[in-house]
Amino acid sequence: MSRYADFYRESIEQRDAFWSEQARLIAWHTPPRQVCDYSRPPFARWFVGGSTNLCHNALDRHLAQRALQPALVAISTETGTERSYSFAELHAEVQRMAAVLRALGVNKGDRVLIYMPMIAEAAFAMLACARIGALHSVVFGGFAAGSLALRIEDAEPVAVVSADAGSRGGKVLPYKPLLDEAIARSKHKPAAVLLVDRGLAPMPRQPGRDHDWALLRAQQLDTVVPCEWVESTHPSYTLYTSGTTGRPKGVQRDTGGYAVALAASMQHIFGAQAGQTAFTTSDIGWVVGHSYIIYGPLIAGLTSILYEGLPTRPNAGVWWSIVEKYRVTHMFSAPTALRVLRKQDPDWFGKYDLSSLKALWLAGEPLDASTAQWISDALRVPVIDNYWQTETGWPILALAHAVEPQSTRFGSPGKAMYGYHVKLIDEASGQELNTPGQKGVLAIEGPLPPGCMQTVWRDDARFVDTYWKSLPGRLIYNTFDWGVRDADGYHFILGRTDDVINVAGHRLGTREIEESLATHPNIAEVAVVGVADPFKGQAAMAFAVARDSTGLDSAAARLKFEGELMQQVDRQLGAVARPSRVHFVGALPKTRSGKLLRRALQAVAEHRDPGDLSTLEDPVALQQVRDLLDAPKNTAP
Ligand code: AMP
Repeated sequence: MSRYADFYRESIEQRDAFWSEQARLIAWHTPPRQVCDYSRPPFARWFVGGSTNLCHNALDRHLAQRALQPALVAISTETGTERSYSFAELHAEVQRMAAVLRALGVNKGDRVLIYMPMIAEAAFAMLACARIGALHSVVFGGFAAGSLALRIEDAEPVAVVSADAGSRGGKVLPYKPLLDEAIARSKHKPAAVLLVDRGLAPMPRQPGRDHDWALLRAQQLDTVVPCEWVESTHPSYTLYTSGTTGRPKGVQRDTGGYAVALAASMQHIFGAQAGQTAFTTSDIGWVVGHSYIIYGPLIAGLTSILYEGLPTRPNAGVWWSIVEKYRVTHMFSAPTALRVLRKQDPDWFGKYDLSSLKALWLAGEPLDASTAQWISDALRVPVIDNYWQTETGWPILALAHAVEPQSTRFGSPGKAMYGYHVKLIDEASGQELNTPGQKGVLAIEGPLPPGCMQTVWRDDARFVDTYWKSLPGRLIYNTFDWGVRDADGYHFILGRTDDVINVAGHRLGTREIEESLATHPNIAEVAVVGVADPFKGQAAMAFAVARDSTGLDSAAARLKFEGELMQQVDRQLGAVARPSRVHFVGALPKTRSGKLLRRALQAVAEHRDPGDLSTLEDPVALQQVRDLLDAPKNTAP
C-alpha cells in the first residue's frame, strides 16, 4: 500500500481520529468537544463545541513570529501600483475596517456584501468581517446590476463595501452606478454603503447611506478590535453560484471546519511552509480567491499576491516577472489563462528567473493535455490539475504530492483527496460503479469533509433536494459532473450533467442567461447551450425565436437585434455571461411533452451526432439549426 493510499483510507475509515489530528493545525480559543456530528444527515457539523476565528488564524496568530513579513502584496498593472502589507500592517488595516463596519452597524451574524475590484481593501473587508463574526458575501466585480440585485435580496446585507471602479485592459469599469441600480431594484436596502475612492471614476454619494472609506478609516487609525470568538459551526460566508435554475444559490460555509480544511490542504496538497509566497491569479469573487488568495495562504503564514490586471498586459511576461520579483513558490491559475498566454510569444518564460517556483496548480475547468504539456515543458515544475467546486471550498480530486509524490496523468485531475468518499454512480439506477472505465456521476458519500458547504443560505430544503436527493435511491452528494476512474484511482472529468456551463473558468447557469434574454419584448423563446471553444473551454450560444420576425429578414437587421440582446445581457448579468452568438430560428427542438432538447441542440452546435431523437416532436427545428450553423453567410458576424 502506498503512503497516500494509507492516508486516504485513514481519513475515511478513522474519520474522527484523522480530522482531530488536522484540527491541531489551527488555533482554537476553545478546543472542540466532538469532531463530527452527523446525527442529522446530510447536515454535518464539524468540530462541535470549539470556538475560533478565521481572522485570528490568518493574522493575529502570526504576529509573534512574522509581524514584519509581507502578508499581502497588492499589484495592479491597471493603475501601475504595487503595495506590500506586512502581517502587522494588514492586522492594523483589518482592525480599522472592522471598526468602521461596526460603526456602520454591522454585528456578529450580519451580512456584508463586498462588490470590489482586486484591491487590498477587498481583502481588508473580508478579513474584517471574519474578525467581527459577520458573514461576507463577495460578488464578482464582473457581474452587473441584475445579478447583484438578486444577491442583495437573498443575502440581505446590512452594509455593502464597494469602490468607484475596476479596470480591465486599461479600460475603467465604473462599479458605483451598477451598485446604485442594483440597490434601487432590490427589495432589500442595505443601511450603509462603504466606498473606496480610487480616483478612477466619478462617484456621486447618497447622503446618509454612502460613506467614504478614507474618511472613516482616518477616525479609526488606532482602534483595537479584538477577534470575536465564534462557534466552529458559525457561518463565515456565503458565496453565490449558478445551478440549474435561474436563481443562484448562496453556498454557506462554516468557520472551524473551513479553517482546518484550508490549513490541512496547504500542508498536504500544496506542501506549503510559512514564509513562502503564493500567487493565485483568480478573483476574490470566486471560491479559489476565497480559499487560496485570502484564507489558505494567510492561515499557513505565507505571503499572498493579489493581482489586478490581465496576464498579457503590459506584456505576456508580467506574471513571470512577478514570480521572479517576489520569489513565488506556489502558483495557482486556471487553464484559460494559460491558453491565452500560449497564443503569445513563448520566449517570455526564458526572460525571468523562475527557480523559486515549486509547482503550478490549475483548476476551475478541464485542463486539456496539450496546454498541460506546453506549460510543464515551459516551467519545468509539476503542473497539478485539481478538481473542485464552490460548494466544496478545496480540492476533491488532486495529487497530494506532499503526502507522497505521484506521477501525473495528463487529462486527469488525479485521485480522491483525503476526506472525500468519492463514488461513481449510475444515473439511472443509483448503483455504484466499480469497474474501471465505467462512466458515472461523480458523487460523494456523506458526511462531506470539513470546509464544504453547510447548506444553501436560508434554504436547507434546496440543499437537501438539489445536492443530496438527485440520484435515485440514496442520500449522496451529487457534483453534477460526469466522471470515470482508471484502475489506479485516477479520475477523469467528462463534463456537467446539468445545464451549468464553464466559460473561461467562470461557472454560469444557462437558465440565467435565457431568463435575461427572454426579458426582451421581442423574444418569444430562447435556449442557451455551452459550445466547445478552443480558448474559453466553452462559450454560451443562444438560439432565439422572435415574437415578430418581420424586419429580421436581412442579415444586417439580425445583427443589430443580436447586438441589442447582447447589450441587454451585459447590463443585466454582466459581460461574463454574454453569449458568443444569438442565432434566430423559427422554433426550438422540443420533445412531444414540450421539453427543450438542449443536449441535442448542443450536439448539433458542436457538429456532433445528437444521438437518440425518438422523442423529438418536430425534426425540422433541429435541421434548421444545423442548416443555419452550416451556412457561413447566415452566421458571419
Ligand atoms: P466552480 O464552482 O465555479 O468552481 O465550478 C465547479 C465546476 O467546474 C465543477 O463542477 C466542474 O464542472 C468544473 N471544474 C472545476 N475544476 C475542474 C477540473 N480540474 N477539471 C474539470 N472540470 C473542473
